[in-house]
Amino acid sequence: MNEQLIEIHDLYVNYKIYEGILKVLNGVEFRVGVKEKVGLIGESGCGKTTTMRSVMRILADNAIVPKGSILYKGRDILKMSEEEIQRIRRESISMIFQDPTAALNPVFTVGDQLMDVIKYSTKENLTKEEMKERAIKVLKEVALPDPERILKNYPIMLSGGMRQRICIAMALVSANELLIADEPGTNLDVTIQDQILRLIGRLVEERGTSIILISHALGTVKGLVDRVYVMYAGNMVEVAPTKELFSEPIHPYTIGLFKTVPKLTGGGIPEAIKGRIPDYINPPQGCRFFPRCEHAMPICKKEKPSLKSVGGGHEVACFLYE
Ligand code: SF4
Repeated sequence: MNEQLIEIHDLYVNYKIYEGILKVLNGVEFRVGVKEKVGLIGESGCGKTTTMRSVMRILADNAIVPKGSILYKGRDILKMSEEEIQRIRRESISMIFQDPTAALNPVFTVGDQLMDVIKYSTKENLTKEEMKERAIKVLKEVALPDPERILKNYPIMLSGGMRQRICIAMALVSANELLIADEPGTNLDVTIQDQILRLIGRLVEERGTSIILISHALGTVKGLVDRVYVMYAGNMVEVAPTKELFSEPIHPYTIGLFKTVPKLTGGGIPEAIKGRIPDYINPPQGCRFFPRCEHAMPICKKEKPSLKSVGGGHEVACFLYE
C-alpha cells in the first residue's frame, strides 16, 4: 500500500445560515496515498467540494468544523498555523476549480499571473528570464500553442478551454505532491472537458503527483484513477479499486447512481434514484440514504453505518453488509 499523503478522519463540517445550521459533512473518512490517483463521485450537493475545501483550508467564513482531523503526512492541517498552510498551498497541494474565469484576474496578463505563482512556489531565487522560461515550459506541457504570445495576453482574449488550460498550468506549478481537480471543465463543451481530464491524467502520471479527481464524467474517471470514493449526503458510502467499483458496486446508492448514466448502446432513459439529497438542516438520524433506499431496515433509521471492509480494498457503509 502507498504511504499515506492525506488522511481524513471523522470530519464534520457545518454551515451557519439564517435558517439554522446545515450539517453537511457527517463523519467523512477519506485517504489518498503518495502518487495515488483517487476519484470522488456523487450527486451535486453531496459535500465533495466541501471535503476538498477543508483539505485546502479554504472553507467559507460561515463554516464550522466541530470534529475531525485532516492529516497531511501525519500532521493535522486543521491545527496548522496560517503560515504553514499557506506554504503547503504554494509548494505542495493545489486545487483546480470548476470555473476557470473566476480563478484568473482579468486586469493582469497571463504572464504576470503565471510568473507570480512560479515565484512563490519555489525556494530558488529565479531571475525574470528563468521564470519566463518556466512559464513557457508549463504552458507547453498543457498543450497551449504559441506560449510566448499567450504570456502577453489578458484572460479575456482567450477561449474558455485555453483559460482552463492556464489554470491547470498554474495549479501544476504549486502541486508538487497533490492536485485536487474539482470538476475541471464542467462549463465547457463535453469534448473539451474530456480533453482537459485526459490532459490532467497524463500530466500527473508524468510528474508522479497524487490526484483527487472530482467529476460527473464517470467514463473518464474510470479510465484515470486507481480507486474511487462514492459520496452521499456528507458521507463516504463506498470505496473500491476503480475496476471493482464499476463492475461490482454494492452500496444501494452506488448501484442507483450507475443506473442513471446514459448508455450509448441504448436501453431507454436512465432510471433516476427516487427522492432527493436530504435537507441538511434536519438530516435523517441514521443512514442518510434511508429515505431513498429500497432495502432500508429498522436499524438504518436509528444508527449510522460506518465504512467496513468487504475485502480487496473494497469498503462499504451499509447495514446490508454487516
Ligand atoms: Fe439502505 Fe440501510 Fe444500507 Fe442505508 S444502511 S443504504 S438505508 S440498507
